[in-house]
Amino acid sequence: MFNFKDKKSISNMIESRGDNCCIPQPKGKVECPTCDKKAKGVLGKTVEHLLTDDAQSKLDCFDGFYYCKTSTCKTVYFRDEMVLTQDDMSIVVGLKEGVSPATVCYCFNWTKEKIQKELEETGTTVVLEDIKAKMQNPGCSCEILNPSGGCCLGDTGQAIKEIKKEIGL
Ligand SMILES: [Zn+2]
Repeated sequence: MFNFKDKKSISNMIESRGDNCCIPQPKGKVECPTCDKKAKGVLGKTVEHLLTDDAQSKLDCFDGFYYCKTSTCKTVYFRDEMVLTQDDMSIVVGLKEGVSPATVCYCFNWTKEKIQKELEETGTTVVLEDIKAKMQNPGCSCEILNPSGGCCLGDTGQAIKEIKKEIGL
C-alpha cells in the first residue's frame, strides 16, 4: 500500500510510472465545474470499479477524479474539463436527487426506501447499528463500492434525519 500522506512517496511513484498525467488520489477539495460546490478526491480504483464498461473504455487512467455529492447536481465525477454523470455509472448514485434505489450504504445495501419503511413501521431504524456491526464482521469495501470511496455512516445519519423530518417523526 502507498502512504498517501507521504508526498515524497507519491512523487516517486509518479516518476516511476513515467506518467505525469494523473495523481493517485487528489488532495484537498476542488469546485465542481457544474455546481461550484467543493468536492473531494477519490481513488482511481473507486472510479474504475463503478463506471460502465463503455465509460471505462473511454478513459486511459482513472486517477485524479473528484466526487460531487451535491444532490441536485448531475455531475458524479469530474477531472479538469471531463465530467462523468449517472449515465456513466454501473450503479445508481443514491445521494443524487430523485433516484431509485436511493442507496446510502453500498456494502450492506441500505437504501433510503428501506430506512423509511422501517421508520414508518416501527418508529425507529437499526440501520446504523446494522452497518457498524457488519463493518466489524464481515467488514466493508467502501473503496470500491461507495461512489464516495469512503465510509457511509455520515451520509446514512444525514439520510435518517431527512427521512424522519419528511414523515414527521
Ligand atoms: Zn456538482
